[in-house]
Amino acid sequence: MTLPMTCCVPDCGCRVSDRGAAIGPETICSGHFRLASAPARARLDRARARLEKLQSSWESDEIFERVTARGRYPQFCALIAAAHDHVDRAWENLKLEIMAQSQDHGRALRARSVPRDAPAHHYAP
Ligand SMILES: [Zn+2]
Repeated sequence: MTLPMTCCVPDCGCRVSDRGAAIGPETICSGHFRLASAPARARLDRARARLEKLQSSWESDEIFERVTARGRYPQFCALIAAAHDHVDRAWENLKLEIMAQSQDHGRALRARSVPRDAPAHHYAP
């Protein structure tokens, strides 16, 4: 059973039980995930697919033995580490894009809720 997690976008607080957009300890609700651009989502999908492929190779006894027999174990480890880094970067870029969109969306909503003839606020220092 997957416990619901809270969306990592500040001020969201959405509980997410679908971990489709989650990486590690973080998750993003589907509403916020939709704010990411198609290229950012595609980049994350490709990075995840590459990592999964490498991990399944790692777990395959046949492939693992072939790699170690050729003395390529360090290169294989480096490849997996690089794939992890690639997923992390794709995730961080996607998250930044969502947060920027989310702030713009929040600003747009606040601007719309303020009547046009409302007096300007002046703050004394
Ligand atoms: Zn959210």
